Amino acid sequence: METTAAVGASVDLKKSLENFFGFDNFKLNQEHIIQSVLDQKDTFVIMPTGGGKSLCYQLPALMMEGTALVISPLIALMKNQVDSIRGHSTERSVAHFLNSSLNKTQMREVKSDITSGVTKLVFIAPETLTKEENIEFFRNSNISFIAVDEAHCISEWGHDFRPEYRKIRQMVKGISDSIPVIALTATATPKVQSDIIKNLEMDDPNVFVSSFNRESLYYEIRPKVSKDQAQKEIVQFINTKKGQSGIIYVQSRKSTEEIAKVLQLNGINAAPYHAGLDGKLRTRVQDNFLMEDIDVIVATIAFGMGIDKPDVRFVIHYDIPKSIENYYQETGRGGRDGLGSHCLSFYSYKDILKLEKFLKDKGVAEKELAGQLIEEIIAYAETSSCRRQFLLHYFGEQFAAEDCGKDCDNCKHPKEKKDVTHEMHQTLTVVKELKENYKVKLIVDFIIGRVSKDIQTYNFDAKPGFGKGKEQGELFWHSILRHAILNNLLYKEIEEYGILRMTDKGKAFLDKPTNIEIPLNRDYSDTKGDAVITSNTAGAALDDNLLIMLKDLRKAEGRRLDLQPWIIFSEVSLQDMATFYPISKDDMMKISGVSSGKANKFSKPFLALIKEYVEENDIIRPEDFVMKQVANKSKSKVTIIQAIDRKLPLEDLASSLKLSMEELLREMNMIVTSGTKLDINYYLNENIDESVIEDIFDYFNEAESDSLEEAHKELQEDDITTEEIQLVKIKFLTELAN
Ligand SMILES: [Zn+2]
Repeated sequence: METTAAVGASVDLKKSLENFFGFDNFKLNQEHIIQSVLDQKDTFVIMPTGGGKSLCYQLPALMMEGTALVISPLIALMKNQVDSIRGHSTERSVAHFLNSSLNKTQMREVKSDITSGVTKLVFIAPETLTKEENIEFFRNSNISFIAVDEAHCISEWGHDFRPEYRKIRQMVKGISDSIPVIALTATATPKVQSDIIKNLEMDDPNVFVSSFNRESLYYEIRPKVSKDQAQKEIVQFINTKKGQSGIIYVQSRKSTEEIAKVLQLNGINAAPYHAGLDGKLRTRVQDNFLMEDIDVIVATIAFGMGIDKPDVRFVIHYDIPKSIENYYQETGRGGRDGLGSHCLSFYSYKDILKLEKFLKDKGVAEKELAGQLIEEIIAYAETSSCRRQFLLHYFGEQFAAEDCGKDCDNCKHPKEKKDVTHEMHQTLTVVKELKENYKVKLIVDFIIGRVSKDIQTYNFDAKPGFGKGKEQGELFWHSILRHAILNNLLYKEIEEYGILRMTDKGKAFLDKPTNIEIPLNRDYSDTKGDAVITSNTAGAALDDNLLIMLKDLRKAEGRRLDLQPWIIFSEVSLQDMATFYPISKDDMMKISGVSSGKANKFSKPFLALIKEYVEENDIIRPEDFVMKQVANKSKSKVTIIQAIDRKLPLEDLASSLKLSMEELLREMNMIVTSGTKLDINYYLNENIDESVIEDIFDYFNEAESDSLEEAHKELQEDDITTEEIQLVKIKFLTELAN
């Protein structure tokens, strides 16, 4: 990293951005925010998750003299952030974290790096900063500015209040009187905003509020008719996104286990995640997700706080969340790299009733607040207008539906409206007939003619309107009742929990119905293909074969370097490489997201791979034009040898070559038979029992032929599979025959 390049009379921010991070352009109002920090002004930033918040302090920290302190509540996230910055630099000590996870020696090392001036950023937990010895250390150090990340933690009105965050001003004062502060948060109502400014005693701060619009997200709501149907749709949906990362949110721990199992049975690489798992296991699941060993996480809301994976391609809500705020945050974990993410929610009125049941024993005020939040999410789920517009309006932002660009289901498939004046009248008549004394469920049962226990007890099935609406079905009548409430014809009695009563407007409607239209519920049962969007913005020149190889290489390098793959190169960078075929370091630096530091540190094996690929496939690089070629035999041979050198799991190798495991093993067998060694011990040791390996090895040592059939015949009574035999045979040939 060329720190010197950044200091000068007129600082070119864009140039610094490119030098340090390899990006061409700033997002949202990053540039103004960074200028404000460089000008040493107190700065307050409200930017939605994924908007590039951290760059707002990272870049000025790298450009300025001294060390920036970043106060963050999330110890889990600190290592991540530090790794990410180190990934852009050639100097490992450029970033550190200080928290309770470090021992004394490590602490001393960090401090000595700060003193010597190589460290530009230190992430610190408030609990660590508050210690007098640390305050004193920083008082005597050169601190450029202090960043308070997740600043909403300061306010009791924020959703994750942290008492020690209240003392930050005190700590800052202990360090210096004149140090500029930048506070950053992803969500803040006006009340929370003023709390933050007051509590941090920010001095006439520059305030930057960014749009909450998440352009890369596609929003879709589907009806949840039954558990089976929803789970089946989820499997179908994920099958169209094989190998991509996704999160499924559910309400209960039990559902996480259940759905993860269903997905696993369907060949999807999924794992459950919830607060009930022990800490070690949770960390492992998180790591595996980040390292792309797990594609899909099925989680309760406990998942995500510490997760910053930029290429989450879908977020599914199996149960509707209990507020718009939750929905926005959780969907916001998708598509952070700007390359699109599909946010699919299942919605059924039954789930709402479940949510309301949890409120039963709560205090009146809490019940009322939660009730309002639930009403909002219902309105969101049932709206037939643009969902993006609805969400942004909720956060106080004006947005024209035309600007959605068909990026929500309602804009993509405008819903037909139906005149339901007659059915509405029919419904209100039933409510009146039953003396305004029952909840939604019984009213619906009555109209569709379901003889439930209550209906039987009260002999309602003998009444005139019973079963008159059987034809339209349950979903339809739930929707009518919802709209009766939304249109203020009926209301729910809060004190007598959930009983439907008639409003004056409803009574007037009964006497003299006025025209009422509602959007029809869409039947999604035969629109599987249609419901899938592709978010590939990279255009036609992208070489899919190379992209797969680059991704595999990135994964392998991630393992080798013990880094998350995306830290090495982002998805965008790989797509760029698979489009422009860089074969030298200079070429590589022209790739989006590749700084000179990154190019020096990580590009070597990628350049080698691309070079070889270009030669093998006679590709004419895009100075002229790009030519795509299908992988041929000799190429897969080289790929197999290289991949095994890199200790790639064979399953991954098979899928990258679009081969079945059996086909791959056959190819490998040919390679070793023709004299090339394939050392697959890394794979065998992890996947096959030592004693089984020995048995097979011994068998071949004495066998008269190399026939697999015969080996299997001999070994099958020990429960040894053909695949195991094939694998050990490769080991055998490698070690003894070559
Ligand atoms: Zn829309």
